[in-house]
Amino acid sequence: MKRRNWTRRQFVRDTAAGVAGASLFGGLPSLGRGSAKGDASKPALLGGAPVRTKPWPRWPRWDPKTDEPRVIEVLRSGVWSRKDVVAEFERKWAAALGAKRCLATTNGTHALITALRVLDIGPGDEVLTTPYTFIATIDAILLNQAMPVFVDVDPDTFQIDPAKLEEKITPRTKAILPVHILGLPCDMDAIMSVARKHGLKVVEDACQAHFAEYRGKKLGTFGDFGAFSFQNSKNLPIGEGGALVSDDDALMDRAFSFHNFGRPYGTMVGDVSGDYVILGTKCRTTEYQAAIGLAQLKRLERETKLRHRNAEYLKSQIQDIPGIRPYRLYDGVTLAAFHLFPFRLDSENFGGLSRDRFLQALQAEGIPCYGGYRPLNKMPYLRDAFSSRVFRAIYRPEELDFDAYVERNACPANDRLCDEAVWLPQFVLLGTRQDMDDIARAIRKIRENAEELARA
Ligand SMILES: *Cc1c(COP(=O)(O)O)cnc(C)c1O
Repeated sequence: MKRRNWTRRQFVRDTAAGVAGASLFGGLPSLGRGSAKGDASKPALLGGAPVRTKPWPRWPRWDPKTDEPRVIEVLRSGVWSRKDVVAEFERKWAAALGAKRCLATTNGTHALITALRVLDIGPGDEVLTTPYTFIATIDAILLNQAMPVFVDVDPDTFQIDPAKLEEKITPRTKAILPVHILGLPCDMDAIMSVARKHGLKVVEDACQAHFAEYRGKKLGTFGDFGAFSFQNSKNLPIGEGGALVSDDDALMDRAFSFHNFGRPYGTMVGDVSGDYVILGTKCRTTEYQAAIGLAQLKRLERETKLRHRNAEYLKSQIQDIPGIRPYRLYDGVTLAAFHLFPFRLDSENFGGLSRDRFLQALQAEGIPCYGGYRPLNKMPYLRDAFSSRVFRAIYRPEELDFDAYVERNACPANDRLCDEAVWLPQFVLLGTRQDMDDIARAIRKIRENAEELARA
């Protein structure tokens, strides 16, 4: 992308249009570098000087001195397919989370697909999940030919609302797939108690929640499986990569076998050594990816604590601004990962300024921000899945009636949340307290000029 040379106006136009687009996590250019002259009280969007011209911390972090020797060693060894370095990463990731086992995968999407497959969640089964997530969560359900059942969110926490789980349970419900979205923990006490009561499996989508904790226990270790992503934007970035964790040896042996063409592994033994014992696929990661992961793992704890500290400070600085409603953490949360820093904009109490106009104004002040997800419970991809031959072979026509499905799966709280949410990317939380003050100052400045911005 050649955004670097674009003017601010082109950038604002581009990112505003791209809010609902696919490139939410792309690198943002630093805005207005070296052109901070002008009226500081006037909104930058209306030609004033931006609050912020200093660049933000770069992402991903990389220190050639400490991070490269191991990667280069692997590259020169010629052993690039999974072997000792991947096994070492798996051991260390499991240990860091307090899980018994870990399996590294090509990405988080395939970690989720593998988890559901190994738990035998498939044709005719219903999986309870949130509409406020990344598409991969839902893809994993549909690609196993199971039916996603959307449970509305608690807009204060941005998470699946556990009080609404039970009313969605039917005899066909097999699992709950809670997503610790934005890196903020779900209400795990409530979710696990519903799961136990109804005998449901739990697969945690922790793809944004590295090292986050609930009652001192790391996310991903509550359910039958926890799934992680190491995609470039994630808090532990490898470029691509993922992992499953679990304490269940039999499940993990089966997951390993599935991810390696169905070859025997551990308790997954064949009659004749070398037989393919189950139908499998291949989603193995490489030795050099594992070497990058080991380098990134060293900074994750420090960075997670820093993000949490900065997020709570920033929240304290903006929560009294009329019309700004920051996230709430559940009582049991001891550490959040803050893959994104979220708040809601209540336009009515914010001088009538629309959310999208607010995003443009905040970007113009030099603060990277996005509007986030659109409702996943009513998009065309569902219609496509329902009209596929495999779905039509499994489900009755009434079950695949798209309009009826959308009505059954209505999530009004989520619809509103998608219209009101504002996200700041995690890397801004790796800055200093002064950086957080810049963000708060920019929001306050927009509040003071909200009426004028809304009119202009
Ligand atoms: C990133 C992400 C995934 C998918 O992970 P990939 O590594 O990109 O395949 C799944 N769920 C959520 C919530 C994510 O953010």
